[in-house]
Amino acid sequence: MNSNGIISFRDEEPLPPEDFLSNRLRVLTVDDDHVFQRSTSFALTGIKILGRDIELIQAYSFSEAYDLLAQDNDIAIALIDVVMETEDAGLRLVKAIRESIGNSEVRLILVTGQPGTAPVHTVMQLLDINDYWTKSELTKERLQTILTTNTRSFSQVKEIAQAKESLESIVTASRTLYAAHDLKTLANQLMEEVSRIFNINNDGLVYAEFDTSFHPTNRPDLIIGTTSKFITFINQPLQHIKPEKIRYRIEKCLSQKKSYYEKSFICLYLPKTLAGSDYVCYMESSRQLSSTEKKLLQVFSMNICGCLNNVALISRLDRLAYEDEFLGLPNKNTLLKSLNQIIQSDCRDEYQLIIIDIDNFSSINTVMGINQGDALLRFIAHRLRHCTHEEILVARIKDDIFALLGSEKLISIDSVKQLFKRLNHYEDTVNTINFSSVTFPLFLPATSAQSILTQTSIALKSAKNKGINQHVIYQPEDDSNTVYRFQLLRALQQAIERKEIFIALQPQICLKTGAISGVEALARWTLSDGTRVSPAEFIPLAETTGLISQLGKQIIEQSCAAARDLSAIGYSTLKVGINLSILQFERDDVVSYLLSSIKKHAILPQQIEVEVTESLAMQNFSSIYEHFQTLRDLKIRIAIDDFGTGFSSLACLSQLPADRLKIDKSFIDRLTFDKRSHAVVKTIVELGERFNMQTIAEGVETLEQLNTLKTMQCHEVQGYFHSKPMTLKQLIKWLKKNHPIQHH
Ligand code: C2E
Ligand code: CA
Ligand code: CA
Repeated sequence: MNSNGIISFRDEEPLPPEDFLSNRLRVLTVDDDHVFQRSTSFALTGIKILGRDIELIQAYSFSEAYDLLAQDNDIAIALIDVVMETEDAGLRLVKAIRESIGNSEVRLILVTGQPGTAPVHTVMQLLDINDYWTKSELTKERLQTILTTNTRSFSQVKEIAQAKESLESIVTASRTLYAAHDLKTLANQLMEEVSRIFNINNDGLVYAEFDTSFHPTNRPDLIIGTTSKFITFINQPLQHIKPEKIRYRIEKCLSQKKSYYEKSFICLYLPKTLAGSDYVCYMESSRQLSSTEKKLLQVFSMNICGCLNNVALISRLDRLAYEDEFLGLPNKNTLLKSLNQIIQSDCRDEYQLIIIDIDNFSSINTVMGINQGDALLRFIAHRLRHCTHEEILVARIKDDIFALLGSEKLISIDSVKQLFKRLNHYEDTVNTINFSSVTFPLFLPATSAQSILTQTSIALKSAKNKGINQHVIYQPEDDSNTVYRFQLLRALQQAIERKEIFIALQPQICLKTGAISGVEALARWTLSDGTRVSPAEFIPLAETTGLISQLGKQIIEQSCAAARDLSAIGYSTLKVGINLSILQFERDDVVSYLLSSIKKHAILPQQIEVEVTESLAMQNFSSIYEHFQTLRDLKIRIAIDDFGTGFSSLACLSQLPADRLKIDKSFIDRLTFDKRSHAVVKTIVELGERFNMQTIAEGVETLEQLNTLKTMQCHEVQGYFHSKPMTLKQLIKWLKKNHPIQHH
């Protein structure tokens, strides 16, 4: 941009765009002097300006010219006489054209009968006039020169205006594209936007060449998006495209690693270095783009590359984290996600969840061998998927446990039984496959998907204790846990009142330097008889009963006090991570509580980091977003906990004001032997990089895990490998031994 804020492309002499050349040059003369009009018309007959014929339009008064110009913004040049019905009609016309009509593009040439009628320079400056001549000076030759220079500048001005408009479109378009969730949608939007911005037909396709080491479940080359014209080629490899010339064009574009802008097509090369994989967007065209348009398309391509990269990362994460690779079914994460969506919807009453467990599967495995067992699982999975309505979610929870989720109109336990009857002819053997099930109608009260799954698993276990072929409908009363939970709740209430719940602190280590950077505060509760209750058990209980407010405040107090004590002995840069439940944001003013606690203990906000689990942050995105923003403004750090299990959408992630992502422990557990988990972790580290967030892996227990994370350039680790969570006293001892303060 130059100082006027106008986009200019200096490196090439701007040639008029092609469509511009084919048009006639429209010139308007405004004068009440018929003699001048006639002689101008005569002088311009048969001549060409920059190769273009002239179309002369004549107006004889201010109002006639005004109306013409107000309706027609294609007039390139207007020659205007100063004196018409009034002394200054011409000057008023100029002002009206620029201001009330708002046409800043038409070139205005003022003419006058007598020299000195208007003070040339002031008028020209004030009124944005491009030229000023007396009639006697306007010989035929001069007229041609004037028209030539003004035509040139008109086409420049016009092109700059178009470029500006297109750039604005590009900015808007990029915003739309950023919201795309999958590559196919993005590819289709991309073509739509290109066709809209550059005014060409929306006929085309987008081809991708994936890096197979990164896309283990994708085929390496694929047409990922098409407009309706090429719809038959969707998801096909390049060789299948007809006519073949399209394939050659795309191949050329890939091998030359550059874009082509021909008269009949555009082939945009979106390179791997920017987009993560090589992509080609092929679009048919019916005209040659101008050089400015080509440049704009390049700018646009750069933006697209960023979008493609983001979407590819997210969709890869989706595939890896939400699919059971072995059976090709959605996994437990997907089930939880759908279940959560349903229980929050208005029609949850119509839905049910059926959990199926194959009876004696382990003995089938022992008797028939693991391979046969696997084959059987595949067979069951295939049947469940293909013999149930497509709107039913069929997922594998683990091992031989499956889930069916959907409207009770579409699925019932009886239909599943029928299905298993047919299964018994499996491979001509007369094996009987029995199974047990629990049906959970979703009109039953339950606040979270996780609690539904826990309750059904308990019911499933107790059903299976009774024998094989057990099919039960979940009854809230038969929750044998109820009594226990009630007792636990009373004990929890008491423990909170007596302030018996304490925090344990677990170190977080920087992988590059080996230095300790912070600790996470984890709640610890020991019953009077010495049994420890896991926070995984009592925190959800505190959440569903409202006790979390009080408990949460105690934990904040203790954490700030710990930060103060650590500062006091020289560890002032250590951050203390506090786990916050979403309810604390929604019900309590946890942010101001946190702030007052920080003040009270005379620590810096930078010493505190809050951890919020991904799934909760994403479900309540709009409400949590503002709280996060406030925390950010206060300089309190934010970490997204259990990242990778929470269904982040790209749109949310790109807006999320978080400092870091905590990679969920389940992926670290399987990091060194499961390709998929390895890919998930790698993807998360990359996502972090793209969105400028640090990454920390939790649950690191072995050196092998640590080294793998190091090569992936994950920033920090936390886990038993370095230390279990400790009391503050133990931590201080541990710090002095392992991370003594360096005194200079
Ligand atoms: P989290 O925030 O994901 O915490 C990490 C959990 O992993 C902790 O379990 C920690 O002790 C454990 N852990 C860390 N390193 C390792 C390792 O190397 N191996 C293994 N096997 N485990 C490791 P913990 O303390 O039982 O906490 C469970 C969950 O309870 C936490 O998960 C968090 O969601 C919740 N929680 C704990 N304290 C609080 C709290 O003060 N407030 C809230 N709202 N939630 C809390
Ligand atoms: Ca945590
Ligand atoms: Ca976690």
